[in-house]
Amino acid sequence: AKDNYSHPYEVYDEVSHRQQLESQKYISAMEDALKQREFITYYQPKYDMTGDTPRLAGAEALVRWQSKTEGGMISPGKFIPLFEQNGLIYKLDLYIWEEVARQMKEWKEKYSFNFPISVNVSRVDLYSPNLLLEIEQIIDRHGLTFRDLALEITESVCAADTETILSVVRNLRDHGFKIEMDDFGSGYSSLNMLSRMPINVLKMDMKFFQRNAGNDEIMDAMIRLIIDFAKVMKVPVIAEGVEDKEQADYLKAIGCDMIQGYYFGRPMPAAEFEKLLQQNC
Ligand code: C2E
Ligand code: CA
Ligand code: CA
Ligand code: CA
Repeated sequence: AKDNYSHPYEVYDEVSHRQQLESQKYISAMEDALKQREFITYYQPKYDMTGDTPRLAGAEALVRWQSKTEGGMISPGKFIPLFEQNGLIYKLDLYIWEEVARQMKEWKEKYSFNFPISVNVSRVDLYSPNLLLEIEQIIDRHGLTFRDLALEITESVCAADTETILSVVRNLRDHGFKIEMDDFGSGYSSLNMLSRMPINVLKMDMKFFQRNAGNDEIMDAMIRLIIDFAKVMKVPVIAEGVEDKEQADYLKAIGCDMIQGYYFGRPMPAAEFEKLLQQNC
């Protein structure tokens, strides 16, 4: 007979076993999915708030997995961390950057705008010795310049290996890439480290808009602190995860330069984003 003590472990093992199976499934499906072009790029608009009316001023490319075997859309939160654990992420990101570059080239020929499209760069990508070379090749292949793609790098890259990471990011920036510090304020890095990062744009972490009862005042204070910090650093600040008018109005009033969020637009397929370009550019 089983004793009670073993029970918690069995439950844990079952859950983790199921998770492992799911992980294994995604990992083995990945290469095939790349070939089948199941990874799709969505675009979420970014708006400049410094004028009288919000103005389309950028976009973030976000991957989606349209899986035939799973019969639907798998969100990046499910597979990106997995792919980061085993190095597959670099392959996927190269694929996405290539797709964004191709799309950017097409849009630049059809519309007149001078903002970059931002792509996400995983911490893992920064360790690839060929990163700069391969991203340069992508840009060349599509007749673009370093100004056409911006790189979103999450603040958590600052957490370890400081000097290595700093020199890789500096190198990218020195080649002309705009560096957007993503999830800024999420708390992985020291202020000292942040002051040494070559940042062109600061993206405030979404958690400042996820409120519990009673923490409004503190969160608002943090937001003002970050905007002031950005002013001192002389970099524009983007607030992401902005979901309603009240937040947008507040941010504009306290000098936030740009906004990205469901309030202005959800991540959307390329064809839909192109309509925004048509209307605005
Ligand atoms: P992230 O880079 O911080 O991207 C922002 C996430 O917030 C996106 O989730 C976006 O859809 C979501 N979001 C935007 N506005 C709002 C809003 O108003 N409210 C709420 N609740 N959410 C909003 P998504 O697309 O699920 O991506 C999750 C994460 O997966 C990203 O976080 C990023 O870390 C990673 N990711 C996505 N695409 C890529 C990619 O191509 N490469 C890499 N390496 N990572 C990616
Ligand atoms: Ca991002
Ligand atoms: Ca973010
Ligand atoms: Ca036009």
